[in-house]
Amino acid sequence: MVFLELTQRQQTILGIVKSEGPITSEQIADRLKLTRATLRSDLAILTMAGLIEARPRVGYYYSGKSPHEVVAAKIRRFKVGELQSRPVVVGEATSIHDAIITLFLEDVGTLFVAREGGILEGVVSRKDLLKIAFGAGDIRNLPVGVIMTRMPNIITTSPEEPAWEAARKLVLHEVDALPVVEPVADNKNELRVVGRFSKTTVARLFVEIGERR
Ligand code: ADP
Repeated sequence: MVFLELTQRQQTILGIVKSEGPITSEQIADRLKLTRATLRSDLAILTMAGLIEARPRVGYYYSGKSPHEVVAAKIRRFKVGELQSRPVVVGEATSIHDAIITLFLEDVGTLFVAREGGILEGVVSRKDLLKIAFGAGDIRNLPVGVIMTRMPNIITTSPEEPAWEAARKLVLHEVDALPVVEPVADNKNELRVVGRFSKTTVARLFVEIGERR
């Protein structure tokens, strides 16, 4: 996977800095038989990408990071809290029928089930609802509480967690969304739902990174 494509000349400059750094831009220009002005943008790109570093009166030296490491470090800086979306929460007594309506109205694939104060109790997915809707039950009288996946078996994330870690949880546990939670001050077992982190959140971030925003 190549995230950062360097031109032939940028690769040559990187090679020179790697083997001979610290080295000044005059010396690099000499080696390549180019003017310093011609090199300026290449040096700027390599510096901004974190591949080389510049020290005044010393010159350029290799940062020791591969292009992949630099991109990985950038990706790991995003926090769940910067990216999370609004959670869609229903109560445990909500009927399956109303939960399905909520899914359509709110345009989400996963509902979080919480009690008063937003305390997380469970999660209901699209397929949880499909499965019960196909069955013989009366979906207007059955509450989501009977089909939801319950605490403490819920995979959660927090606003401070790196988004990359949260994305790994989505992949590892094969779920579409994670409730973003915060601990409730006086009770370690209670978690308050404050957001939603889903595969869509990750896809959106991927697109933004691709657009170099
Ligand atoms: P779908 O079932 O619509 O494909 P998911 O893959 O997200 O959606 O859900 C699969 C199962 O995992 C469902 O039974 C659901 O209740 C449960 N589930 C969904 N999200 C979570 C989560 N964050 N933690 C634990 N279980 C979850």
